[in-house]
Amino acid sequence: MSRWTNWAGTATADPQRVHTPRGVDEIADVVTTVATGGRRVRPRGSGHSFTPIALAETDAIDLDGWAGIAAVDAGKYQVTVRSGTTLRRLNAELHALGLGMSNLGDIDAQTIAGAVSTGTHGTGARLGGLATQIVQLELVLADGSVVTCSADQRPELFSAARVGLGALGVITQVTLQCEPSFVLSAQERPEPLEQVFDGFHEFAQENDHFEFYWFPYGSNALVKRNNRTDAERAPLSRAKQFVDYEIMENVAFGTLCRIGRTVPRLVPTLGRFASAALSAREYRDHSHRVFVTHRAVRFVESEFAVPRESVHHVLTELRALVPRLENPVAFPVEVRVAASDDIWLSTAHGRDSAYIAIHQFVGMPYLEYFREFAAIAAEVGGRPHWGKMHNLDAPALRKLYPRFDDFVRVRDDVDPTGVFSNPYLERVLGR
Ligand SMILES: Cc1cc2nc3c(=O)[nH]c(=O)nc-3n(C[C@H](O)[C@H](O)[C@H](O)COP(=O)(O)OP(=O)(O)OC[C@H]3O[C@@H](n4cnc5c(N)ncnc54)[C@H](O)[C@@H]3O)c2cc1C
Repeated sequence: MSRWTNWAGTATADPQRVHTPRGVDEIADVVTTVATGGRRVRPRGSGHSFTPIALAETDAIDLDGWAGIAAVDAGKYQVTVRSGTTLRRLNAELHALGLGMSNLGDIDAQTIAGAVSTGTHGTGARLGGLATQIVQLELVLADGSVVTCSADQRPELFSAARVGLGALGVITQVTLQCEPSFVLSAQERPEPLEQVFDGFHEFAQENDHFEFYWFPYGSNALVKRNNRTDAERAPLSRAKQFVDYEIMENVAFGTLCRIGRTVPRLVPTLGRFASAALSAREYRDHSHRVFVTHRAVRFVESEFAVPRESVHHVLTELRALVPRLENPVAFPVEVRVAASDDIWLSTAHGRDSAYIAIHQFVGMPYLEYFREFAAIAAEVGGRPHWGKMHNLDAPALRKLYPRFDDFVRVRDDVDPTGVFSNPYLERVLGR
């Protein structure tokens, strides 16, 4: 047995077997053997989901040895990537090819298959999550067959499997629509919270990538505006990068969090201090270097996608909630946006969305906070991120996703006995 724990320490598993296939045939062999033996198997990525979605009971598939870009279509700016490739490696290999991803999330530790399977997203009012950049998927299904799907080939499987929760098969290769590499101009600065709330829709529309962080007890938000530019790169110096990101956002912030965990009554004061200490910076760099941040301070997280027009309601309620909580909140709230898409279980399915993410420092109480936030999000039809903490089950989720039953039907077709299921999928999909 080999113990597995996710990044946040919120899920552990002791699968009896961890398979490490190095090719599509080997992946198919593993699936066939497991299915024939009446067991269940989970492919796992980097363990960066907060939910136990990747948890394997008897058999796990680890795809560390199945990584890298396998093929390039330079004319179309498309690449085919082996599913165990981390975003960090993908970005480096794309960069060497003169290509880049149109949008990315906060970090690059996830695997490409793990990231798309839970609906991982970045921010941008005119851009979708990572799964919207997929043009073709190759999967091993429960019967060991290898299939490809795209908008033209098995389109229903494609609509389901782009955000497939690891419930439909093992993704072996992902073909991505990329673009010529580009430079982003990054502007980060503290702004009064009221001003950010008031200007939210305008800021979201007028910037390629707009987001903000808000310390619940502070009066400022840290606003990030990233826009494409033809200007030359002007990256942060190594020293400034080290001080701003490593020292301020990781070392100093981690110290404040640890003090707050030891003496909780200090948390509001520390939060106001952190909010007041926010500083501005501007630079221009390769897109992936602007999108991605190093997160060394561990936390737990819940995130809901809400209709974009509901964002003020949710933020106002959340602001009123925090002072009422029995335990203080040590971590900021993060607010982002994404465009509507047509992927069946994408959190942005059929509607332009705002993403509101709440966090708590590891080891501090969070249950009441997350439960009350979920109740606020429910008032506006909020959909939980599949990889972040929530308590919704299949009956509740069915009401939130118009194509939920289509997803279940496709799953019944490709995995009738639940070879790829686990307790989390039983809760969110009903079996
Ligand atoms: C610090 C931190 C920052 C984050 N930032 C963001 C962010 O900016 N935006 C955002 O949206 N999310 C974010 N997340 C959440 C994260 O992107 C998702 O939870 C993502 O799924 C994690 O990818 P992973 O490779 O770790 O996959 P895992 O968590 O290991 O697995 C996730 C799912 O993918 C499935 N899976 C993995 N490989 C395969 C495969 N080959 N075939 C089929 N299914 C597979 C697993 O079975 C599981 O269901 C963040 C998480 C952390 C911890």
